Amino acid sequence: MTRGEISIDERYCLGCGYCVHFCARGCIVIPGDRFTTMGYLLPVFINLERCNACAVCAWMCPHQAIEVYKYVESGQNEPEDISSG
Ligand code: SF4
Ligand code: SF4
Repeated sequence: MTRGEISIDERYCLGCGYCVHFCARGCIVIPGDRFTTMGYLLPVFINLERCNACAVCAWMCPHQAIEVYKYVESGQNEPEDISSG
């Protein structure tokens, strides 16, 4: 099974919540008690086992704050960044 992981760059995140709304697997939440250095609500990646690296969250983020890493079962341990380029 394809497994994914995301990284949220709080320098660019404005706390809009689009990533939370559009992740169909419930992998992102905004707890409400975490903030970016600019004071915006910070989303948090949870449910690592459910993320399939679909990259919808990164596509929907208006501020390019999310990078998605896809782990392929090839015997390699290096994640592949599929959200940029
Ligand atoms: S890559 Fe897909 S499954 Fe993973 S957090 Fe983003 S929207 Fe959810
Ligand atoms: S969609 Fe982007 S800017 Fe909006 S909360 Fe998620 S990471 Fe932050």
